Formats: sequence, structure tokens, C-alpha cells
Amino acid sequence: MYHHPLLILTINCYFVNIIYFKILSISVIIIYRNYGDFMKNIFSETYESLENYFLSIGDKKFRATQLYDFLYKKRIYNLNVMNNIPNTVKDKIHEDYDFSFIKILKKQEDIDVKKYLFELNDGNRIESVLMYHNYGISLCVSSQVGCNMGCKFCESGRLKKVRNLETYEIVEQLLLIEKDLGIHITHIVVMGIGEPFDNYDNVMNFIRIVTSNKGIDLGSRHITVSTCGIVPGIEKFMNDFNQVNLAISLHAPNDEIRNKIMPISKAYKLDELINVIKKYIKKTNRRVTFEYIMLDGVNDSLECAKELSSLLKGINCYVNLIPYNETENIQFKRSNKVQILAFYDILKKNGIAVTIRKEFGGKVDAACGQLRAKSY
Ligand code: SAH
Repeated sequence: MYHHPLLILTINCYFVNIIYFKILSISVIIIYRNYGDFMKNIFSETYESLENYFLSIGDKKFRATQLYDFLYKKRIYNLNVMNNIPNTVKDKIHEDYDFSFIKILKKQEDIDVKKYLFELNDGNRIESVLMYHNYGISLCVSSQVGCNMGCKFCESGRLKKVRNLETYEIVEQLLLIEKDLGIHITHIVVMGIGEPFDNYDNVMNFIRIVTSNKGIDLGSRHITVSTCGIVPGIEKFMNDFNQVNLAISLHAPNDEIRNKIMPISKAYKLDELINVIKKYIKKTNRRVTFEYIMLDGVNDSLECAKELSSLLKGINCYVNLIPYNETENIQFKRSNKVQILAFYDILKKNGIAVTIRKEFGGKVDAACGQLRAKSY
């Protein structure tokens, strides 16, 4: 039978194409699997997930104890010096995990505060602030690159969210700062750039890692998570972590003012927020902190102080009045001292526990997101 040469060529091309596409898709799958499955950063692993990993590779659960001891107690990140783990297991860990660190790009220091600017492996930047208190040393960590909550007074909101931080990127903020200063951090506040409840799983795994008694072993009661008021996040949090402290960025005594400065309040009204907080207190028996930034002419009137007192009456809470850190790009002004004190007095007289936040970091751009914003 005669075949036209053009037909043979077409059929050949057809098969070559199929083979070519097969090879292409197999390589895509391999690359994807390599990246997605195998190269997880080791500092994203909770103790329990590491136990499962060792079981999954046919090894023993207690390897997780050994590895956590090395990474978080001895702070040794080079597996080769671990002589209690067989080489075959070390090779497997190296095959499956990335041990890379984010980088310290810049540090600004004052006596009682140190501010760090970090560069992530993809070039994005975040910051952490370390504060020396009389009760210990606290670290304020970032949870996202930027933030989507859009609070009008906030520098991080102005820059919008680029992405969530991975768990290891939050853990490494602590590891690198402790190493850099040779200190032991006693308290953590998740109050840096980002909204923690908009990156719930990664932030909660970070808490699981730093509180594990196999590693850093920080007390849950020494950790505070601050939210702008994402109600379903609070619901979930009270079930998952009933010993970790909760802070709420309130900043207004009613929906009308809150709507003007915090877009989230259009999604979750004050009523709904206060109800879930009451539920949280009932369930956890813990006192909630309300943060209240004092913004000149916006939320600092004596009327506002009275309204805030009635809103919070009977709730197991305390209010932290925060002198606003002015930033170049935002027009809000800080309330003057006399106004802040008068506001404070009204709350106090009405039986509300209240403090005025000690000021840290004015000289080092420590207000949320300022250092990062200036670094671009
Ligand atoms: N998204 C979370 C946590 C990050 S913001 C939250 O809203 O709570 C941490 C705190 O810093 C919030 O109370 C926020 O309102 C406040 N903040 C933001 N910009 C500030 C500024 N310029 N001066 C003082 N506090 C600021």
C-alpha cells in the first residue's frame, strides 16, 4: 500500500508531539512535587507533624524529640554534627527539608527597643520589634507581608497585603533575634505587620512550635494575639488556644467612628464583636485587652470616653490607650497629653481598668510597618 510522504510526516509529527507533551507534563509534575512535597522548611514543622513525618519514612517517633532538642534547645542547625541520628535518616531529612533562614537586613536600636528589618527568601520585607520591659523581653512579630484590613491610620494597611508569612518565617524572626542579641525572649505579641486571623493556620502553627515543651517552651500565657476584630477567627481561636491572650484593636466606641477608620467594622459590627468577646471570656476565663489608639479629633473626645465606658462595663478587660505614632504618609495626628489623661480619667472613674501605653520606638520607626515602608 502506498502512503503519501506528507501523511507519514504528519503522523510522525503527531506522535513526536504526544511524546513531547508527555515528557513536558511529567517534568512539570516532578518539579511541582519536588517543590511542593519535599522542600518544606524545617522550621514550619510542629512537634506533632515532625513525629508523623518520621513515622511516614519508617523511622521512630522519638526522632522528633531529638531534632527539636537540636534545633530549639541547642540551636544547632547543622545536621552533620548530630551524632545521635543515623546518616541514612540525616540524608532523608536533607532530601525532604529546607533549612534556609530569612536575613536580617537592618537593625535600629534604642536603649529599650530594637527594631529589625528582615528580607525573606523571595525579596519581600517584614519587621519585628523587641522591647525590654521590667517583667521580661517581648518580641512583636509580623504575620503577613503587608495587610489587607485597610485601617486608615496604619502604615501596613496602606501598603496592602502581598502574601501570608509561612510558619517558618515567623519562627525565624525569634530565632535570629535571640541569636543576634544573645538573649532569651520571654513574651511574644503577634502585633507586627499583618492580621493574624487572616493567616490563621500558619500563625497557630507558629504558636504550637514556640510553646512546645520539646523546644522553645514558652508559656501560652506569655503570648498575645492581636486582631482588628475578625469574629470567626476569635471563635476558632477560643476553641484552639484557650490559654493564649487575646487583644482587640477597638479604636472607637461606636460603629459610626469605627466605620470611618477601620473597614473591617463594616463586616463585623461592634455588637457582634462584643458578643463574641463575652463568649471568649466565658469560655477561657481570660481577661481581654482592648487597644485604643488616641487620634486627635477623631475618637478622643470625652463623649467617646463615656461611650467606651458603657460599652465595656462589666466585661473582664483592660483598655490600653495608645498614643498614635504619626507617619509621613497618613494625615492623622496624635491626641495631646492633656486629652489622653482626661480620657483616661473618665474610664478610670467608670471602673474600667486602663493604662496608657509606654512609648517605645518613636526614634526607631517602631510604629507598625514604618521601617518597612521606608525601606522601599
Ligand atoms: N492586625 C492586628 C495586628 C497588627 S496591628 C490588629 O489590628 O490588632 C497592631 C496594633 O498597632 C493595632 O492595634 C494597630 O491598630 C496599631 N497601630 C497601627 N498603626 C499604628 C500607629 N501608627 N501608631 C500606633 N498604633 C498603631
